[in-house]
Amino acid sequence: MHGLLRPIMSVRVIKGEAPIEAPTIPEPTLVELVLGFSKAMAKWVASGRPVVSREILRDRLKACRGCEFWDKRSLFAKCRKCGCRKLKLWMATEQCPLPEPEKRWKAI
Ligand code: SF4
Repeated sequence: MHGLLRPIMSVRVIKGEAPIEAPTIPEPTLVELVLGFSKAMAKWVASGRPVVSREILRDRLKACRGCEFWDKRSLFAKCRKCGCRKLKLWMATEQCPLPEPEKRWKAI
């Protein structure tokens, strides 16, 4: 399978010890990313492109930064659950992809 279409595996190696395979969080495939982005943009545009206030953006970012799915290692931080980047946090029509009751922020 092509590298872009399968979850990324991670291995943590501690000097002098056998490699330990870290728990893998399955990330969305490229196809899922494209479909998810297209759907989110269509919904946002159809709603008149609403954006959240700076206060709500700050609250959303704070929730994401405290989440186990937030990947701050990449150049532009992203959510490993849905694959979205910070742009999604600005969009009022978007919500955290986690199911209830774990969902950390909702659409407005
Ligand atoms: S959108 Fe939800 S799942 Fe993704 S990083 Fe933010 S809080 Fe976590």
